[in-house]
Amino acid sequence: MSLHENYERILHEIADAAAAAGRKLDDIHLIAVSKMHPVNLVDELAAFGQIDFGENRIAELIEKKNTTTTANLRWHLIGQLQTNKVKLLPSGLLLHTLDRESLADALNRRFSECGETIDALIQVNCSRETQKSGVMPEAFDKLCDYIARFTAIRVKGLMTMAEHTDDEKDVRAAFALLRSLSERVASRGIFSGFARVLSMGMSGDFRHAIAEGATHVRIGSAIFGTRS
Ligand SMILES: *Cc1c(COP(=O)(O)O)cnc(C)c1O
Repeated sequence: MSLHENYERILHEIADAAAAAGRKLDDIHLIAVSKMHPVNLVDELAAFGQIDFGENRIAELIEKKNTTTTANLRWHLIGQLQTNKVKLLPSGLLLHTLDRESLADALNRRFSECGETIDALIQVNCSRETQKSGVMPEAFDKLCDYIARFTAIRVKGLMTMAEHTDDEKDVRAAFALLRSLSERVASRGIFSGFARVLSMGMSGDFRHAIAEGATHVRIGSAIFGTRS
């Protein structure tokens, strides 16, 4: 299948999942995860109208951001970020992986110094897998309270990765948990710019994520093919 065919198929499947869930297609955004694929594929996909791109390493994101021939793409950092790399963050991206106090400290320092802000999602380890990053659900409120003091960090929503399993019940439970945490933090009103963004769902599970309220799905291999 060509890149264009893959892309069209994914757009159709997203539309089908939205319709099945009784949701408006406009409320669901596709982030094309281009990690480990060359920048020319980013430009090729952008030519079909794709705007949002995700990378999980900051160095690779910057490299592609600087070499793409397409203007006005939106970049998403979806992988873990070490505090010593915070200084590399360009302005204007959405960070999906804010998951600890030390990272919040570093982000606030970096962006308040230059009078800028950063948009971020709090990553939650909804499936409680030990090897996964993300704040544990029981520590979520405390982290939110900690981050809420920082004016340079604008928390827009939450992000999670479900367990890699065929068990639909477990996958959906993780997504449902993220949605309920989002509703709770929205009702507490502690983040002024909170936009109820729910970044959840990848190639293998985005239909379930859309059924559970995803606003942003992060899809890589189903569009670009397998990564080497
Ligand atoms: C790689 C990655 C994706 C995309 O995964 P696919 O299975 O290729 O769709 C989504 N989210 C995160 C955090 C990733 O690292």
